[in-house]
Formats: sequence, C-alpha cells, structure tokens
Amino acid sequence: MKIQYFNTKSEMTAFAGTRPGETFRTRLTCSCRTGFNYRDGILVVIGEQVTWKLIRCKACRKEADNGTV
Ligand SMILES: [Zn+2]
Repeated sequence: MKIQYFNTKSEMTAFAGTRPGETFRTRLTCSCRTGFNYRDGILVVIGEQVTWKLIRCKACRKEADNGTV
C-alpha cells in the first residue's frame, strides 16, 4: 500500500480517478503528530487489497515534498 498526501480535495479526486480499482471516500489519520489529524481521504482497493491511501493534508504534503516522510 502506498500513501500520497494532497493539498486539495480536487487534486486527490483527480489522482484517484487515474488509479485502477474501486475508490472509497472516508476519513483517514494523517502523519501529523499534534492536534487535528483526522482528514478527508480516499482508499483505492483492488480485490481485497488497499493499493493506495490518499489523504488531504497540507502539512503532510509539504513534509513529503521535503522528503522527510
Ligand atoms: Zn497531516
């Protein structure tokens, strides 16, 4: 399973649309350690396996872009 963070919901939706499998909109926990870390997210599922965990969090996206996550 791969994890990808997004700045906006529309970026996340667009990315999910390019993945094979079923997509499920849900709430997911991001990697922020303090405060609110319960985010809008999408799970991409093929068969019984979650292949992508997509989460909308600007802070986590920034860290990922900096290569620290
Ligand atoms: Zn976060």
